[in-house]
Formats: sequence, C-alpha cells, structure tokens
Amino acid sequence: MIPLAVPNLNGNESAYLQECITSTFVSTVGPFVGKFESQIAELSGTPTAAVLCSGTTAIHLALEGLGIGEGDLVMVPALTFIASANAVRHARADVWLMDVAADDWMLDLGVARAAIEAQTEPHANGRLHRDSGKVLRALMPVMIMGAVPDFDAVVALAKEFNLRVIVDAAAAIGTTYNEKTALGATGVDAVCYSFNGNKTVTCGGGGAVAASDDALISRIKHLSSTGRVGANYDHDIVAYNYRMTNLQAAVGVAQLERLDSFLKSKQKIRDRYAAMADEFDDLSPFPEPQYGQNGHWFSGVWYTGDKAGQDSAFQAHMKAAGVDLRPFWKPLHLQKPYLTALSEPMPITNEVWQRIFPLPCSTHITQEELETVITAAKDFWN
Ligand SMILES: *Cc1c(COP(=O)(O)O)cnc(C)c1O
Repeated sequence: MIPLAVPNLNGNESAYLQECITSTFVSTVGPFVGKFESQIAELSGTPTAAVLCSGTTAIHLALEGLGIGEGDLVMVPALTFIASANAVRHARADVWLMDVAADDWMLDLGVARAAIEAQTEPHANGRLHRDSGKVLRALMPVMIMGAVPDFDAVVALAKEFNLRVIVDAAAAIGTTYNEKTALGATGVDAVCYSFNGNKTVTCGGGGAVAASDDALISRIKHLSSTGRVGANYDHDIVAYNYRMTNLQAAVGVAQLERLDSFLKSKQKIRDRYAAMADEFDDLSPFPEPQYGQNGHWFSGVWYTGDKAGQDSAFQAHMKAAGVDLRPFWKPLHLQKPYLTALSEPMPITNEVWQRIFPLPCSTHITQEELETVITAAKDFWN
C-alpha cells in the first residue's frame, strides 16, 4: 500500500539519536533541545521559541500564556483537525466555530467580522459575546495543509476588535507570507507548529510556539516545565509537563537540515497532482496560495462535480489499486464533543469537506509510486 505520508528519516536522524544515547542525554535537558529551539525561532523570524511535546500542547500553552482561559471564546474554523479546538478546551476556554472561505478553505474573515459586529460589544479584554456572556479573546487561523492566509487582513481584523491571533501552523513549517516574510514576523501573537509523524518535519511527536514577545515564550516554558522556580522543588503555579525531549529534538534538527529539499519535493508532488486535476472538468487542485509560498504539506484533488457519493467509491478504487486514501477531516461542528459549541452556519465547510482527497505525499515518494497513484486516480475519474 502506498502510504499517505510517512516520515523521511534518511539523513542524520540515527546519528544524532545515537549521540543522545551515548551521552545519556535522552530527556528534556540536552544540546539538541536548545539547538532545535533556535532553529525554529530563526525559521519563524522571532527572537525565541519554545519547543514542546506536541502541536496540541503548543496551541494550548500559547493560549494559556496569553491569559486566555475560563469564560473566554476563541474563533476557530470548523474545517480543521480536532486538535485546534481541543487545545482551546484544554486551556478551559470555549470555541466559537466559523465557516471557511470558498477560495482558500481558511477562516472566513467576512463571516468572522459579521459575527463579531452582530453578536458582540466592546470589552476591556476583547469583545463581550452578548448571548453567552463570554469574552471573545482571539482568532485562530488554521493554515490548512500548509496554506497561508491573508495575514495583513487577519491582523487588521484582530486589531480593530482588540483580539489576539494564535496561528495553528501545525502543518505549515516552511510556508512563508508574501515576499518570504516568516510566519512569526506577520504581526500575529503566536505561531504553533506540530512535528507529528506525518508532518513535513517530524520529531516522532512534538510541537513548538514561536512568538515575538519574549515574555510570552518565557511563560510558555514555565507552564511546560511544571511551573518550577529555582533549582529546588519549588513551584509557583499548577502547570504541565509538556516539554520536548533531547531525543525528539535530535530528530528535528536532522529533519531541518533537509527542509529545503522536503519543500521542493512537496512542491513537485503538488504540481503533478495539479496537472492531473487539470485534465478533468470535475477535479481541481487544492486552492492555490494567494499570499505567499505554501509549504504544501498535503496535496491531492478536490472533486467539484455534482455526482453524490464519489468519496467512498474513489476510496475503494484507490485502496484496490494499492493506494492509501482516507476521508479528509470531519469538520468540528459535526464532531460529538463540539455538537453544542457556539457555531455559525457552515455552507462552505459542509459543501467541501467530503470532496477533498489528499493523495500520497511523502517527501521521498518515488516517481514510480507517483505514477501508480496518478494512473489509478485517472482510471477512476475516467
Ligand atoms: C497535526 C495538526 C495538529 C495537532 O498536532 P499534534 O502534534 O498531533 O498534537 C493541530 N492542527 C492541525 C491543523 C494539524 O494538522
């Protein structure tokens, strides 16, 4: 079976892991942790970053570090992986689910603005949501599959309404804005990455927050390391054990050495699938980035025709041809834990989610495997 996305570990990963074992620095202290942290900061255009044990914990601590919690609301697009919303709940805040825009599948800023104007009023910390009595504190744009939103518009909207911006950039390592502006230099409050096994850059598992506010990064580090102060067992808050280990960071450092080649390969895969989609009236590539260079974590095809039930038929056909094809993320407003969450109408999300087909996109996928995928897909759509 040709997998959807598996890690490419053919660089210095084993050598660096062996260094960790030989030196016995396998836990949260060790040279790779600091090194990986600096590399993430540099890539993000920020003075510092905090590395953590997952993308979910990165979003959670970015929120908590910004003082967002009980009684607060965060606007999250419905078309995302469930972790975006779970992180808000872990911070004890609640989500306000928004639809995505038809042209980029990201948080629809027009919908967000209309909801803010109609349902909230000014508040010292953000916007008071009249019906729930909760305070809207932040927007969470999700860089879906590596795509880049219009950050100038996001930041302007946030400023206008006294809101923070926490970016779910879990899948967007290597993506840049406009003329190669790093994500942390776009005026947002925090950029959160994941280094889960299927992401473009993996640590096995892991995450990071990059921010231009040093004090925020310090708070996140404090929150992630049990709130310990000084060298003894003194702790000043109820905190977490969310740190990244030297083992994870060692893999991350080795992965980042090859980031450019990973991104080139992701672009090539995207181009191949886009060329295939162009041959069919009912298929499109995923939306093309308008505001920068998309890292293309995932590529594939989007079915725009009007025949129902194409998702399960396509899946079965590809599986039979030896190609792993899974349904795309089921949107948050249809997920059991969020059925009763505050939510706006979802015409676009409802329309597109079952029409999105990510195709195999490991950075080391072979030419032959790509041809197998494309031949099988063409067979089906013909
Ligand atoms: C991968 C991903 C996450 C979660 O990251 P973990 O490291 O698995 O916790 C969150 N949001 C999006 C959009 C993702 O793709």
